[in-house]
Amino acid sequence: MDEKFDAIIVGGGIAGLSAAMTLAKGNARFLLIERGEFCGAKNVSGGVLWGSDLAKLVPEYWLETGGIERFVNHRRLTFMDEQSAFSVDFKSEHFNEPPYSGVTVLRAVFDEWLAGKVQAAIDESEHPDESFLATDILVEEVLQENGKVVGIRAGEERFYADCVILAEGVNNLLTRQIGLEKEYVPVDHMGIGVKEVLKLDSKRLEDRFQLRGRSGLTNEFVGFCSEGVEGGGFLYTNSDSISLGLVLGLKDLKAKEKTPYDILNTFKEHPAVADMISGAETVEYSAHAVSTGNIKALPSELYADGVLIAGEAAHLLLNAGKAIQGMDYAMRSGILAAETVIEAKKANDYTSGMLKNYRSALENSYVLKDMRSFQDAVHLLHQPNMFGAVPNMICDFGRQFFTISGEETPKASKMMHAAIKRNASYWDLVKLGLKGARAL
Ligand SMILES: Cc1cc2nc3c(=O)[nH]c(=O)nc-3n(C[C@H](O)[C@H](O)[C@H](O)COP(=O)(O)OP(=O)(O)OC[C@H]3O[C@@H](n4cnc5c(N)ncnc54)[C@H](O)[C@@H]3O)c2cc1C
Repeated sequence: MDEKFDAIIVGGGIAGLSAAMTLAKGNARFLLIERGEFCGAKNVSGGVLWGSDLAKLVPEYWLETGGIERFVNHRRLTFMDEQSAFSVDFKSEHFNEPPYSGVTVLRAVFDEWLAGKVQAAIDESEHPDESFLATDILVEEVLQENGKVVGIRAGEERFYADCVILAEGVNNLLTRQIGLEKEYVPVDHMGIGVKEVLKLDSKRLEDRFQLRGRSGLTNEFVGFCSEGVEGGGFLYTNSDSISLGLVLGLKDLKAKEKTPYDILNTFKEHPAVADMISGAETVEYSAHAVSTGNIKALPSELYADGVLIAGEAAHLLLNAGKAIQGMDYAMRSGILAAETVIEAKKANDYTSGMLKNYRSALENSYVLKDMRSFQDAVHLLHQPNMFGAVPNMICDFGRQFFTISGEETPKASKMMHAAIKRNASYWDLVKLGLKGARAL
């Protein structure tokens, strides 16, 4: 087959499918190629999809029963030491109305559902027989002619297009092949995520987590959950299961000679977590590389003649402590890449001079604006005190504060002083506090 498409999208994850949906609605002819048996087969997220772009791609998606698991109306951040858990907890009816700003998803379900929506959009487009979603195919090479990307090769087959959107995810071998990313991404820019899905009957789940209807809880953890390794944990409620996992810095993991699954087992055994997952059965285990959100990991450029890079292939991700934002960044960048292709098609110009509009659109969007303004917070999270001394001190203070012992009770400031003295140095904490205040 030597047809020429307006665009070829490599990767049927969130970035690729969002680009595909936008192209279908814009009546472009495209081919999306996904190596998994179906879209979502290879993908792992915690996962909460933040932001509002899903409602643009699939209006009123919340009226459907498929696709998403729960709407997030309850958020919790927990500091842990070995025995205790001190949480900041926020629940609001403001979060309980559409359009929702956070929904929990299971990627194997969500991506396949979104692919179905893309197929429906193709069917309704002006060229229903000229755009395709092809699964179970690995793209091995990006084809170039005179320095311009002209298509891709999968096995013996070659496919050509005016523009290729690389949405291949964090393991961006094709982006590296065309020289936009260095051959090796520095190890301190990479993490590993491990996750279990634990099945729990929806009635028990709703009673246990006080969920009403399709509302859901997200709980992030710092401290003992990562056993001193840089990183943190998460627990998210799905329709009838719990997603529980960790995201850990690869460099620190190696330095401390620990394995992610051992740390996950310890996390599961912590009394606060064990109570939440009691009676739930592990039905899925997965692991996946994840970017740490360091802006230095971005490819040298996000476009070149005939090519655009979207989603985590471009290391677009932010983890500034409040949440991991990789899926919403993938969605927005996929949409912006496709919009750029539609504009390029109108102008019949796919040179880098035209495609640089994608970079400008990303710079003007919350994606690159937030990545830039919260870089200090990203770096702060990687300071050892943040997953050691600070959570220990907070739990120490909590233990004193909530103890009614029948003895004279010290003032809270005295308790805090004692907790700091036992767990950290004043000076380090002052420095950390000042940095934190500036970073957030
Ligand atoms: C444990 C964990 C927890 C996370 N939690 C969250 C969270 O709660 N919220 C959040 O927003 N983000 C989260 N993230 C990050 C988020 O999962 C990613 O940022 C997001 O999936 C990136 O989307 P993407 O479409 O760019 O890439 P992916 O979802 O990785 O999709 C890339 C697709 O390309 C396909 N592909 C790759 N190479 C080829 C090839 N050569 N040929 C054909 N197909 C190819 C892959 O099979 C895959 O389907 C988490 C990540 C991990 C690992």
